[in-house]
Order: sequence, then structure tokens, then C-alpha cells
Amino acid sequence: MGKVHVVGAGLAGLACAVRLAARGVEVALYEAAGHAGGRCRSYFDQSLECEIDNGNHLLLSANTAALDYLTEIGTRDSLIEPDAAFPFIDLGTGQSWTVRPNDGPIPWWLMDRARRVPDTGLTDYLGAVKLALAGRDRTVGDCVDTVGPLWDRFWEPFTVAVLNTPAADASARLVWMVLRESFMRGARYSKPMIARDGLSISFIDPALQRLRSKGVEPIFGARLRAAGIEDGKVTRLAFGDDNVPIRPDDRVVLAIPPSGAAAILTDITVPRTSSTIFNAHIRLDQTVEMPNGIPFLGVIGGTAHWLIVRRNVISATISAADHLMDEPADSIADRVWDDAKRALNLNVIERPPIRVIKERRATFAQTPEEIRRRPGTRTRYSNLLLAGDWTDTGFPATIEGAIRSGHAAAAALTDP
Ligand SMILES: Cc1cc2nc3c(=O)[nH]c(=O)nc-3n(C[C@H](O)[C@H](O)[C@H](O)COP(=O)(O)OP(=O)(O)OC[C@H]3O[C@@H](n4cnc5c(N)ncnc54)[C@H](O)[C@@H]3O)c2cc1C
Repeated sequence: MGKVHVVGAGLAGLACAVRLAARGVEVALYEAAGHAGGRCRSYFDQSLECEIDNGNHLLLSANTAALDYLTEIGTRDSLIEPDAAFPFIDLGTGQSWTVRPNDGPIPWWLMDRARRVPDTGLTDYLGAVKLALAGRDRTVGDCVDTVGPLWDRFWEPFTVAVLNTPAADASARLVWMVLRESFMRGARYSKPMIARDGLSISFIDPALQRLRSKGVEPIFGARLRAAGIEDGKVTRLAFGDDNVPIRPDDRVVLAIPPSGAAAILTDITVPRTSSTIFNAHIRLDQTVEMPNGIPFLGVIGGTAHWLIVRRNVISATISAADHLMDEPADSIADRVWDDAKRALNLNVIERPPIRVIKERRATFAQTPEEIRRRPGTRTRYSNLLLAGDWTDTGFPATIEGAIRSGHAAAAALTDP
């Protein structure tokens, strides 16, 4: 094989490039932006005067491809790994609880009233069986009871957290897949994980270093605008005014978002609808201590869904947030600050500096209809492969899905 041209230096492109370079393959990596990481990165925010992530990112210990990637780039120990415990507060009622799966695959914790979601009975959880048996057209809302505390306090927040799609519309199969890989295998696979010092330090910068050590110097500011195709093969990549010839033995991995990929290859089917995530980063003057040392809290009945605390910065996530699209950032900051004060019992009167980040295309909307539009790794062009969290990995559009897609492309090129 000749050179592999990887286009897009988000996690999918990086995972692919790192794996190929480790296998001795010659790689060129092109990225439109001036930096790598795409939707998963950190940057210095001038108004907060500190480094922040573009958005809170939570992994689960079941995310084996992501953990393998971190091992490959040498940062497996850069994640905070609390026990399998998910604390929640309901701002409407003031109730607090912690979802804490037990060891092993039999969910004994559901037998214990004190460990269940408050105001739920054991039989309420039987809806999960329907989820396990759901056909590909079913949504979570088709399978479980959409009224009552279990919906409000588990199905909706869990689905929105893992699929960034309201539970009424989200694919039942995909939600079940996450449950099956994590909670249904017990505590060992259900641990939440967070980058201790930021996304770029864990996921991005060490990958670039690893690539450079293998002689791969990423080319930034290189936006692919067209691909020349002859006889079912890519023969040329056009970046601005530069044309990169693709030799007969070369290969191309397109690891850019779905709308971009569809603009380059007009005949591929891709998911069309995306779903927004807002993050609001609140910088306090003092460090925030979290109960039991768990650095995050699920919030029910507010605007924010999750609060993640890193020293003196509280970062709030609002997923599946298309309904807030037209709301001014300042009003979102007000709402989130109110949630944070109440949820964390903060005794701070004046609103501190808050940076609101809107990611309009955070992920594709993971409905049954859109999931059917995910393409596979291979395409009808014999020397071109696809990668990205939106491709058909069988996993949600997450870090795990993106890295799996990159690994799948690398395997398709190098495995016998
Ligand atoms: C706010 C937010 C919160 C999230 N929370 C979580 C979470 O808690 N847990 C989790 O697992 N996942 C989470 N995700 C999802 C996760 O970030 C993504 O699934 C993952 O980063 C996608 O990686 P990717 O490589 O597929 O795509 P991208 O990151 O989009 O990478 C594509 C790259 O291609 C580049 N590019 C685009 N067009 C071109 C072109 N024409 N030429 C060259 N380069 C191009 C882009 O600049 C980008 O760098 C979250 C995402 C967001 C936005």
C-alpha cells in the first residue's frame, strides 16, 4: 500500500492515523481548522481567563476502543475514574439520589428500594425488556412508560446523555446497546470517566505528538473542497488551490462530518438532521467541593442536565437543546447559574463570569430514521473509506463511536 491520506483530525481521523502510523503505514493528515480535535478539544477562553473544553465529555468504562486509544497515545491514566455511581438532584422536589449498579450482570440493586430511583417500583423497570426486544424502527418512547418518575428521572436523562436526542424520538436499539454494554454488565463497566485536566491533554495533544514521532506532520488549514474521481477511484484531492494527486496504491480516509462528506461525494447517504448541545462554563473564585468526591451531578427539573466540576470551574451541559436555539446566551447563563447555585448549594451572590458555547451540530439526531442513513466504512470507491461518529459503528455518536470508526477504517486497510 502507498500513502494513506486521512482528511479530518477529529477523534475518528486521529484514531485512524495513530493506528496506521503505528503499523508502519505512511500517513498524511489534513485538517480544515488551525487545530485538531474537532468536536472534542480544549482551548484558552479569554473571558474566563482559563482553559476550558468545548463541552463536557463523559466516557464509560465500557468504552473499550476509547480506552485502547488512550493507551496507544500514553494517556490512559489521565482520566478521573470514580466508582460506578451517578448522583442526581431533582430541583423541583429537592430529592437527591445516586444510581449505583452492583458488581456482576444481575441487577440486584433494583431489589433495594433505597437504591432505586425515588418513587419507582421494581416492576417499572420491566420496560427495559421491551427495549431489549425493540425492532430497528422503535423509539425509547415506544417501549417504556412515558409518564412517571422513571421516565423523568431515568429514561429521559439517560437517553439524552448518551444519544443527545429526546427519548421520545431516540432509537431504542441504540439506547439498549449502551445499557447492555454498561449497566447490564455491572459496576465494572459502568464507571463514569472524565478527562482530569481537559480533553486536549487526554485525547488530542498526545495523539499529535505520537504522529509527529512517526514522521506525520498534520497539515492544518487544509479544507478539502472536492475529490477528483475516475473509474470508481479517487485520483485527486483538492484543498483550496492545491491538488494532491492520489497514486494508484494510495488510499483516502474521509473523517469529516456528514454534511461535508456528502458535499464531496454527492452519491452517499448520510444522516441529515443534527442535534444541539449547549455548555456553560462558570468560573468561580474558589474551588467547589463535591459530595463523596464525585465530580459531577445529574440535574432533573432545571435547564442544565449535568454539572461537572473541575476545581473552580463548573461546566453545565444541556443536551438535545434545539428548543433553546433562539434564546440569548445571557439568558441561558442566568438559567444555568440558578441551577448550579441550587444544585450545589453555592453561597455566592453575584453571578460569576460564564461562557456559553453552542454546538449546533454536536451530533446527528439519533432517531431510527437517521440511524438507517449511517453509511459503512467502505464505499463504492475502491480506494476511499469513511470514518466519523456518524458512520455505522453500531455505537452512538460519541467518543467511543468516533474512535471505533477510525479503527475500523485502519483495520479495513491493514488487516489481511
Ligand atoms: C458539546 C459536546 C458534548 C459532547 N459530549 C460527549 C460525551 O459526553 N461523551 C462522548 O463520548 N461524546 C460526546 N460528544 C461527541 C463527541 O465529541 C464526538 O462524537 C466526536 O468528537 C466526533 O469525532 P469525529 O472525528 O467523528 O468528528 P469531528 O470531531 O467533527 O471531526 C471532524 C474533523 O474534520 C474537520 N473537517 C471538516 N470538514 C473538513 C474538510 N472539508 N476538510 C478537512 N477537514 C475537515 C473538522 O474541522 C474536524 O476537526 C460531545 C460532542 C459535543 C459537541
